Amino acid sequence: MKGQLESKNFDSEFYRKIKEESGVEVNLCYQCSKCAAGCPVAYEMDLTPSQLIHAVRLGQKDLVFSSKTMWLCAACETCTTRCPQEVDIARVMDAVKIIAQREKIKPKVPEIRAFYDVCLQNIRWFGRMYEIGLIMMLKLRTRDFFKDLLLAPQMFKKGKLKLMPKRTNAKAMKEIFSRVKKIEAQEAILKKSQ
Ligand code: SF4
Ligand code: SF4
Repeated sequence: MKGQLESKNFDSEFYRKIKEESGVEVNLCYQCSKCAAGCPVAYEMDLTPSQLIHAVRLGQKDLVFSSKTMWLCAACETCTTRCPQEVDIARVMDAVKIIAQREKIKPKVPEIRAFYDVCLQNIRWFGRMYEIGLIMMLKLRTRDFFKDLLLAPQMFKKGKLKLMPKRTNAKAMKEIFSRVKKIEAQEAILKKSQ
């Protein structure tokens, strides 16, 4: 980690953007690593949650964006709950993802990014999760057509996959999505004017 931090360029804007997006002051972190010790997916991450927070403090934009960590984060908030300094690490993870998307940074784990997109699309269309639609959309996006295919018969048997979607209040859903879009557009204008 030390070598990685030294070899990357410092980006002072990066720290500011994360603070603005998340509202979290990462400089409160004193690197006790309680967050990393409790994170259920830290073993798969290339930067532990505490290392990611440290990298944000040091404006290591390239290091953060080239990491798998924020994509693997399951948003369980264990880290946030454990932090003695009340640093909301889960919120920082979200902010990093939002900024990565805004700046069109290629995700280190594209399947997870694709999963987020198809989940949202699924909810937008059907008002709730339609698993078969989600699987098909995800397979088309990732071009990984055969992964986990053998699990399908068991899932059908257990009633976990329904052949047809159940539409629930599509109109309300449409309104929610358009309201969110409006809020995002207003926020973008506000940020530009600041
Ligand atoms: S638990 Fe809090 S103070 Fe400790 S390393 Fe993580 S973010 Fe920093
Ligand atoms: S919110 Fe993310 S980083 Fe924090 S403990 Fe859960 S999975 Fe780990």
